[in-house]
Amino acid sequence: MILFRPDNIYIEDGAEDFSLTRDILSRFPETPVHRVEESLSITEEIKKTSLDIFGKGKKQLVLSRFKGSFLKKCPGISPGIVCCNYYVVNLMKNCVYDCSYCFLQGFLENNPLMVAYVNVEDLLEELAPMFHNHPDRKFRVGTGELTDSLALEDVIPYSDRLIPFFNKQENAVLELKTKSANVDQLLKQENPKNVIVSWSLNPPEIIEREEKGTPQLHQRLEAARLCQEKGYRVGFHFDPIILYPGWERAYKDLVEEVFFTIPSSKIEWISLGSFRYRSRLKQIIKERHETTHLFNSEHVSSKDGKFRYLRSLRNNAYETLSGYIKKHSTDLNVYLCMETKEVWEGVTGKMPRSDKKLDQFFDM
Ligand code: SF4
Repeated sequence: MILFRPDNIYIEDGAEDFSLTRDILSRFPETPVHRVEESLSITEEIKKTSLDIFGKGKKQLVLSRFKGSFLKKCPGISPGIVCCNYYVVNLMKNCVYDCSYCFLQGFLENNPLMVAYVNVEDLLEELAPMFHNHPDRKFRVGTGELTDSLALEDVIPYSDRLIPFFNKQENAVLELKTKSANVDQLLKQENPKNVIVSWSLNPPEIIEREEKGTPQLHQRLEAARLCQEKGYRVGFHFDPIILYPGWERAYKDLVEEVFFTIPSSKIEWISLGSFRYRSRLKQIIKERHETTHLFNSEHVSSKDGKFRYLRSLRNNAYETLSGYIKKHSTDLNVYLCMETKEVWEGVTGKMPRSDKKLDQFFDM
């Protein structure tokens, strides 16, 4: 478990009276606490005093009240890209881990603070009528778009509030996406029927070199095993797949390790996605992660403006990994994340909405 110790905690106006604020403050009795009107001035201060603004921002915890609508359609809907019918709720921005490929380094470049939205009550008040008024729709809601869903669960315990709520819903599932092994809070929940916990996995050498601060592969898999035995549904993301000499063997071993720990019949799905980035991110990665091997291969621009491995290399990687997975299970749902329709068609022979089994899967 990561020991997160913020340098400072900032409470924005309007965030003081929430139970989660009190809860978080009680876990950091020695951290300086400041009241601020809004957090932009803190970023300006960091810019004056630190060369690694993003790294410094991760250690400034801002407690804020989110004032807009929480529920959003997954931003995977972009030109030429197939989206997997998914909603996101952003309860936090930024992450304690420091993966070299993390898109947040570019996305949060101008406001890199660790922000936790404390008005979970407002979120639940928004979601309850939304789910109730659309009984014909299935909502798959993830919290891991701008953070790791569980990395700070021991100090910012969202699951205590979210899981009991989702357990009562007829047409909604909560997806917690993580690289963490921080599942103690989850294991205390009773009967977590509407919750999927999914782990992003990579071979140990990638974890070591490109996923700074994250738990090792065996720790993630052990956390997954405990959650599955507790009754959580579990999934895995092989994402981002990174190609390097020997990747076939490394990913083969990874697939073996997964199925050795969790029986295929107990896995909801596995998603595959390859390394991708916007052009600005490349420069940031090179500055912040000098030992990265991410740019040892060639990447080309896709319709959505992101750079990816050549399509033939991506197809080969997806087919290779799908083949490893199929040796263990031919039934398991394997889908591609943030990929073009040409690659979907090339690898699976179909588009996601052209297949009954996939339709059911995305509807769930
Ligand atoms: S775990 Fe996810 S959000 Fe956190 S640094 Fe890594 S890629 Fe970024």
